[in-house]
Amino acid sequence: MKIGAHFTDRELTVTNQPAANEPATVEWVALGRLVALILDPLRDAIGRPVRVTSGFRSQAVNRAVGGAVTSQHLRGEAADIKVDGMTTAEVARTIHRLGLPVDQCIVERGDSGWVHVSTRLDGKNRGQYLASPKAGQYDPWSP
Ligand SMILES: [Zn+2]
Repeated sequence: MKIGAHFTDRELTVTNQPAANEPATVEWVALGRLVALILDPLRDAIGRPVRVTSGFRSQAVNRAVGGAVTSQHLRGEAADIKVDGMTTAEVARTIHRLGLPVDQCIVERGDSGWVHVSTRLDGKNRGQYLASPKAGQYDPWSP
């Protein structure tokens, strides 16, 4: 099933864990919003595939991958993404430049890691741009 213009239900529920990972209706609504507000506009702007390495996570999947207990992946509000041919910093800066309504945009584990991006279903986005581990030895936000 297609979600938005460029994504599918399979991509948004991908997992390498042997556990059920089926979103409920409200989580599908959140995933649809994430695609419409963040992932599709990013894909359109860069003209390259946006690879989702982790989107929705059930409680079982989230536990198995060591996700935070309050992870927005549990609500369908977050995706971890990579774009071939772009560093994570380039992807994150593009999201910032486009002014997409993010709750959090986090460059995880440096240039060869991934970008965690979320938008809240209730629209109360914090607009946080972060790096993990914390910027210092590596700051994706300074050009
Ligand atoms: Zn994430």
